[in-house]
Amino acid sequence: MPPIYDKPTVDKYDYVVIGGGSGGSGTSRRAASYGKKVAVVEATPYLGGTCVNVGCVPKKIMWHAADLQDKILHQAPGYKFKGVENVKFDWAAFKPQRDAYIRRLNNIYATNFDKEHVENHQGFGRVTSPTSVEVTLPDGKGKYTLNADNICIAVGGRPVIPSDEEIPGASKGIDSDGFFDLPEQPKRVAVIGAGYIAVELAGIFNALGTKTHLVIRGETVLRTFDPTLQQTLTPWMEKSGVKLHKKSHVTKVEGERGQTLTVHTDNGEKIDVDVVLWAIGRKANTHGLGLEEIGVKLDEKGDVIVDEYQNSAVKGITAIGDVQGKWLLTPVAIAAGRRLSNRLFGPEKFKGEKLSYVDIPTVVFSHPTIGTVGLTEPQARKKYGDAVKIYKSSFRSLYFSMVDEEHKEPTVYKLICVGPEERVVGVHIIGQGSDEVMQGFAVAVKMGARKQDLDDTVAIHPTSAEELVTLR
Ligand code: FAD
Ligand code: NDP
Repeated sequence: MPPIYDKPTVDKYDYVVIGGGSGGSGTSRRAASYGKKVAVVEATPYLGGTCVNVGCVPKKIMWHAADLQDKILHQAPGYKFKGVENVKFDWAAFKPQRDAYIRRLNNIYATNFDKEHVENHQGFGRVTSPTSVEVTLPDGKGKYTLNADNICIAVGGRPVIPSDEEIPGASKGIDSDGFFDLPEQPKRVAVIGAGYIAVELAGIFNALGTKTHLVIRGETVLRTFDPTLQQTLTPWMEKSGVKLHKKSHVTKVEGERGQTLTVHTDNGEKIDVDVVLWAIGRKANTHGLGLEEIGVKLDEKGDVIVDEYQNSAVKGITAIGDVQGKWLLTPVAIAAGRRLSNRLFGPEKFKGEKLSYVDIPTVVFSHPTIGTVGLTEPQARKKYGDAVKIYKSSFRSLYFSMVDEEHKEPTVYKLICVGPEERVVGVHIIGQGSDEVMQGFAVAVKMGARKQDLDDTVAIHPTSAEELVTLR
């Protein structure tokens, strides 16, 4: 087993990182690769953070299960596969297998730390001065201090659940962490929220056959995304079985966990379910970290305020990943962390290194998936006015030609171009495979591609992606 440290091994480290998640791992390993003495302080026994334990990884595995169920039940019959009606997903059998895979990943993280000479300190980290971190060992087994001239805050965040004062009975619900604890598949669920997590988890439940209610405050899901994506996904979710409760606010939750829970909305609706799942955003884990006491500035949400180089208001203290509140995505945390270590500890050529937060691509694992990079149409029109030109195509991918009408998923591709040179400032796509299509087009946008560059690229046929280089 890779070692876990419970005391300092030197008087002073080059770098102490609080949080062993995506950002913490990325920055600490990069710093150690430059021969620096590095310690990571992680509060849980499970390295890898949100993404590995209760985020991207187990979520994507569940998405694959849901996608398979969709294919077997709704798409395979069109291809004349027989006998699929009796296929059933066994959640109770699958969960331990999924958990075991995550434990393997935790171990790989610990092994990598060990191989690359990053010390893994297990305990709660708290800054006590600009150059010291106090580590409280689990189960009250004592405290010690790690000293360093560079301290990085990479503590991530946690899901928000309204208080019972705000919404009586709200605490009877679970959050996305609780989703991954569910030992069995609930028969009925109410998901509250309209962002990434609500859409993804409602989609998984629905595809796996749980009667799924989605309670949203607006008319559409994903309101911060391009309107075309909102207007395509929302009706499709409804068509594929999710019961949407639009323009609805939860007023109370009645009942007992483990029995029927009743969600009341301000529209007078009463929704009976087995599980209520809140997915209304996340909050940075800055509470109790000692940051404000030493002068680190937090914004009103509790996120650490950093400059473009990830520097906080206190010299020597940096923050990366979800805790700095911008672009809560694993690759962003890792990229920012690695660049930060390049800048702090790397060769001269990296002295100005920082992550550009412009044109970050992102995917929503909905059914079908969404991919997006750059400006939405409203953002582009606000910034560039009449110089904006939109190219859009709505079609059924060849795959669905054999699938019955009811289950033919939509595909919509949209390019946002600007100026006489038609520089592509936004790409927004929804449809089967969009999660995989997006990465390459994000490279093009990042390189400043023009519409003509896409047109000059020979299409790959027959694919859906080819539509993006043949738009007229
Ligand atoms: P984290 O990974 O959360 O790591 C922070 C670590 O700090 C944790 O291990 C925590 O235990 C530890 N910690 C906290 N406080 C202390 C303390 N005081 N002392 C010591 N340790 C402490 N992103 C994607 O890019 N793609 C996806 O598909 C995706 N899916 C997601 C699905 C869900 C359900 C969720 C919740 C998130 C998802 N994300 C996804 C977001 C992604 O997980 C986060 O952006 C990413 O994990 C942030 O990394 P981080 O290093 O900032 O924080
Ligand atoms: P998001 O910020 O994406 O969405 C939360 C949504 O919930 C809001 O947009 C809002 O939508 C709604 N909401 C907010 N407050 C309330 C409230 N009080 N009552 C009801 N609804 C409310 O947060 P998530 O928790 O979904 O995800 C957190 C972050 O994690 C994401 O922003 C993303 O960065 C990351 N993530 C990434 C994934 C990926 O890469 N595929 C997957 C999952 C998470 P409205 O205003 O329309 O009501």
